[in-house]
Amino acid sequence: MTNRMKKKSQQQYLPYRSLSGYLRGIFGRPLRKVPVDPGFGCPNRDGTIGFEGCSFCNAESFVPQHARSGKDPVQQVRDHLKNSPKSKYIIYLQGGTGTHAHLEDFRDLVDDLIQIPGNVGLFVGTRPDCVNEEIIEVLMPYMSRKLIWLELGLQTVSDATLNRIGRGHDVAEFTRARHLAREKGIPVCAHIILGLPGEGHEEMMDTARFLAEHELEGVKIHHLQVIRGTKIEDEYKKGEIVTLDAAEYPILVADFLERLTPRMVIHRLLADAPDDLLIAPRWPTRQKLILSIRDRLHLRGSFQGKLWSP
Ligand code: SF4
Repeated sequence: MTNRMKKKSQQQYLPYRSLSGYLRGIFGRPLRKVPVDPGFGCPNRDGTIGFEGCSFCNAESFVPQHARSGKDPVQQVRDHLKNSPKSKYIIYLQGGTGTHAHLEDFRDLVDDLIQIPGNVGLFVGTRPDCVNEEIIEVLMPYMSRKLIWLELGLQTVSDATLNRIGRGHDVAEFTRARHLAREKGIPVCAHIILGLPGEGHEEMMDTARFLAEHELEGVKIHHLQVIRGTKIEDEYKKGEIVTLDAAEYPILVADFLERLTPRMVIHRLLADAPDDLLIAPRWPTRQKLILSIRDRLHLRGSFQGKLWSP
């Protein structure tokens, strides 16, 4: 087999359960996610929990341009779809904290978004301490006809690290929110960051083991990026933190994936901040890194869940 053929066959067999494969299994093809900023802001910036925000966060880096306009969320979706109005898609409440609102405002937003033609699902990104029974009850009526997911920021399973990065919640808060969703059958995708300050290989693998033990339905893996305008930027410039390097990252992610359950859906493998906001690390293209992660697993004869045992 030539190298080219080998590469092609490796790309066809993914050694992990990707989001696009999962969506293809449900809808017959992968679907795009349309990010929306609901305009609810963030309790870790508006004083509800804190004023300073998480040390790695510049909220702008999470949200694409079309969703930064302050426009009505329904209009944001329409703007995004103006060149392909008939396509099917999933709405992703991405900007700020998607459930940090009065309950009626959240309910109205969900009702409005769900009804936009072509929308087949809603993924709600939020903090674990902004999830309660009422929020879950708002989502439940739609579960029979739309694909509903909760995306919860966890970042790490070390309370010491959560404290250091100024998250304003602990791991127990995540566990509580995760179980509320689970009781009602809403799948949860945990957002985690590899390479947080003070964390080595074992701490990162602890996070993988935690996700497996709690049978999370999905995970979004990011590497720590130093973004302009964040507290981490200051720490980085003072030499207080280092970032991961591109050669070690595929090994780390392969180790992480091996410890997850085979069923967990991998929503993302690395972070992707806009170029104009990114300070470090400056890595090869996203696609090259994703291929390196796949290669690493193929070379080991390994796959997601290889080291997991029920
Ligand atoms: S990461 Fe989320 S919770 Fe933290 S400051 Fe940014 S928007 Fe707020």
